[in-house]
Amino acid sequence: MKKALITGLTGQDGSYLAELLVAKGYQVYGLVRRTSTSNLERISHLAGNVEIVSGDLLDQSSLMDVISDTQPDEIYNLASQSYVPLSWTQPALTAEYTALGVSRLLESIRRCQPDARFYQASSSEVFGQPDESPQTERTAFRPRNPYGVAKAYAHWMSVNYRQHYNLYTCCGITYTHESPRRGTEFVFRKITNTAAKIKLGLAKELKLGNLEARRDWCFAKDAVTAMWLMLQQDTPDDYIIASGETHSVKELVECAFSSIGLNWQDYVSVDPEFYRPDEPVQLVGSIDKMKTQLGWEPEYSFAQLVESMVDYDLKKLTDSSM
Ligand code: NAP
Repeated sequence: MKKALITGLTGQDGSYLAELLVAKGYQVYGLVRRTSTSNLERISHLAGNVEIVSGDLLDQSSLMDVISDTQPDEIYNLASQSYVPLSWTQPALTAEYTALGVSRLLESIRRCQPDARFYQASSSEVFGQPDESPQTERTAFRPRNPYGVAKAYAHWMSVNYRQHYNLYTCCGITYTHESPRRGTEFVFRKITNTAAKIKLGLAKELKLGNLEARRDWCFAKDAVTAMWLMLQQDTPDDYIIASGETHSVKELVECAFSSIGLNWQDYVSVDPEFYRPDEPVQLVGSIDKMKTQLGWEPEYSFAQLVESMVDYDLKKLTDSSM
């Protein structure tokens, strides 16, 4: 039985990846940091199938202990301070988690389990304001926020440990991916959640920023399948994980409201507080390498993703047991 260690188990991607690996017959360990109240909501359905191990990316010895004790074949580093706006108010802490946390993890692997295969969750934020569109694995990194800078450091450290120490490390440069398990601070879930609330009479309006802004969105379930596939290859490499297409916030709003029989124009207004100008060059990933080398492409369409999230939010708001 293969053994996998997931950091960031309690997050969106960690919960989907754990499901996937359990279904594939892995022994799954999830690194969880201590909190004063339980944060296991996203993985409660996996109780008994995943072993929780205690550790923190801020603490080198905890990482070494966990890796020595569990001896995983595969390690997926999904833990991070993942919210871009917070990286401006807490830049040093973001660097501790998102950049130096990866150094600590790589050092722990090198010392305790050098044969383990390692996946690092890179982000399209490393491209910042890219000079080409779509971006490929060869596009230059020009991060424009502390989160992107920290992810760029983590990416290059993972590549350097591959080149210098011959560790099996892979970076997945993921574009925005969503699911019913996404936090409501992110615009996609904010829209589906508020549309559901309006349908139920629990909210009256939805305030958004630039409706013309375009993003490359895919479903988190598709993204974690790509992560797993990357670690099954003979040779480690870096890949873009994206949908390869963009949709505007307006398209998202239209799709969410029309799926529940509402006209979005009756409820949505533009609030200058949330307004961001259009990006001069679009952030959209080329998935050619993933398609040709790993045979991966997203299974879920944009419309399926939006409708499934609105549906989930409607059920969650009406069913207290969810
Ligand atoms: P998420 O829901 O915010 O989850 C982040 C996870 O990191 C949580 O489990 C959190 O644990 C854990 N964590 C934070 N600090 C930690 C620390 N010091 N030690 C141990 N664990 C810590 O993120 P996600 O959406 O699943 O994203 C997964 C990864 O992909 C992240 O690295 C993110 O930056 C990256 N990414 C995500 C997207 C996206 O669209 N979702 C796009 C590009 C890249 P707690 O529960 O204790 O807070």
